[in-house]
Amino acid sequence: MTDLRDTETEASLPGGARWRLPWAGTDERPGRRTLAPHHQVQLLWLLTLLAVVAVVVTGPFALNSAESGIKTATLRLVPASTQLAAATENYTAGTAELLVVAQSTDAAARSDGLNELTTFDTAANAAWKNYQRFSANLPGEAKLRTNVALETQQLSATGVELLASASISPAAVATFTALAARQQQGLVQLQKQYQTGINAAVTLADRQYGIRKRDLLIVATIVLLLTMISFSIVTRSIRRRYHIQVDEVRRNELESGLQRALEMVRTEQDCYTLVQHAIEQSAPSLPSEFLVADSSRAHFHQVITTDPAGGPGCPVMSPDECPATNRGQTQKWQSNTALDTCPYLRNRDTGPCSAVCVPVSIAGKTIGVFHATGPDHDPPDPSTTGDLELIARKTGERIGILRAFSRTEAQARTDPLTGLLNRRSLEGAVRDLTAEAHPYAVAYGDLDHFKLLNDVHGHDTGDRALRLFARVLRDSVRPNDIAARYGGEEFVVVLPDCAITDAHAVIDRVRTRLGDAQRGGTVPSFTVSFGLAPGDVNLAFGEIVEQADAALLRAKAEGRDRVVLAGEAGEAADPGAAHGPTAELHPTP
Ligand code: GH3
Ligand code: MG
Ligand code: MG
Repeated sequence: MTDLRDTETEASLPGGARWRLPWAGTDERPGRRTLAPHHQVQLLWLLTLLAVVAVVVTGPFALNSAESGIKTATLRLVPASTQLAAATENYTAGTAELLVVAQSTDAAARSDGLNELTTFDTAANAAWKNYQRFSANLPGEAKLRTNVALETQQLSATGVELLASASISPAAVATFTALAARQQQGLVQLQKQYQTGINAAVTLADRQYGIRKRDLLIVATIVLLLTMISFSIVTRSIRRRYHIQVDEVRRNELESGLQRALEMVRTEQDCYTLVQHAIEQSAPSLPSEFLVADSSRAHFHQVITTDPAGGPGCPVMSPDECPATNRGQTQKWQSNTALDTCPYLRNRDTGPCSAVCVPVSIAGKTIGVFHATGPDHDPPDPSTTGDLELIARKTGERIGILRAFSRTEAQARTDPLTGLLNRRSLEGAVRDLTAEAHPYAVAYGDLDHFKLLNDVHGHDTGDRALRLFARVLRDSVRPNDIAARYGGEEFVVVLPDCAITDAHAVIDRVRTRLGDAQRGGTVPSFTVSFGLAPGDVNLAFGEIVEQADAALLRAKAEGRDRVVLAGEAGEAADPGAAHGPTAELHPTP
């Protein structure tokens, strides 16, 4: 069972009417400020833009550290290594050329050789200088470099000596070759150092680049995911608001349409018919019914159903037994097989089902209930339930007005002491009879010695006597006879379409039943006299009343406690003599 009333969004007003707060059914509440949908979208775009800018701006910086490794390799290690290779190559070629020139005896060949040697030497020295310029000062490089420079100097000096000597000794050549080999070795070592440095820088740069690339990818993916999640949240929020607004607009239209229609309704029965249409529109697929309690609230009876098969047929007998009317709240039942289901929903012939019950109240007093069933575990949705609650509220309001109106109307039509029609409404009822050309007899009754009864027993006793007489009068006349208190202790009964003999019997029965009603009662004995005038469509009501009044006067004069027919001058009517036995003449009303 689910109690639909949200205590935070719905409040009970005096008289039990419930006022649904404007934000009911939405997530918005005062104090919890939410951005308007278009501002949400704008904010989201701004955040997305910031995230993209952040990725674009930080990306190059992230990759920069990887680039610096490459730069070091490109700007220093590779040129230094290249220059070292050039120096090595030229020194090697120069050394070989020097040995050739030193051992040559041909002057021309020597001269050419010397030229070539100079070229190699110049190129080697330039390459060495360039190497020094690009040197990255790798660990241990300085020492190696100094050694190579020293060896180069020694090699150069030894080479000069070789070139200058007339005969070259194998020992000098061996010394020169050994020096050249050491220089070569130093240069190769330096080159190796640089090659290792280049390899390390490239490997490092490659690794750093990979790491940065991965980081960037992760950040970009997170930004993308966050953006997508944010967009989906905002989209859902906007969609929910849209649906809420559409539902609100639809319900407002239903409310105003219902209001207009109910204002045109003049009777409770018409109100029920309208409610049936409204429920059929709001819950077309749900078998529904409207149970209304009688005036004593002891019994429910079905006034409408939208189900051609006769409605869901809730067997609840009275408002006191119905959980919805008892609690004054909408009750939703997921399944009639559930443990906490309504006892009147269980064991329905239609099988497992869900249900919703919406009480209908007038100023806090429950007078009925809308009952609709749905598929098992699929009760009417909040929108349909909201519609039913709206229809219930409007129906309660209208029925309340209609009942209050008819109460006021009845009060204006009736005499408060006796409950009989008053003189004004009697005249109105007679006008209707005259308009329809119905003949009628008029009886004018007056309680006998009523002043004395008042004087002896008090005014309250007099009132009780008046009420007693009114009850006897009401119970003795026929349903279509019109009985009214004409004033004081005088009464007029209009008997439509009634022969005078029948009218006499009816009125005489009033007289005799008054005596019966007083037996064993607390009201002191009193009698009534009647004057009776036959109907005449050519006479005005006032004239017929006058005739009856004249007959009444005669009844008084002739001793009271009797019925006198108008026109029977000088003597009381004897219905038995004039019309035969009463029992034969007049049917019991
Ligand atoms: P009669 O048999 O000739 O009609 O005698 P009566 O005493 O009934 O005649 P009268 O018309 O003089 O007295 C009518 C009395 O009815 C006077 C008044 O006190 C009483 N009466 C009129 N209206 C009421 C009422 O609402 N309550 C009570 N208790 N008495 C009323
Ligand atoms: Mg009187
Ligand atoms: Mg009287």
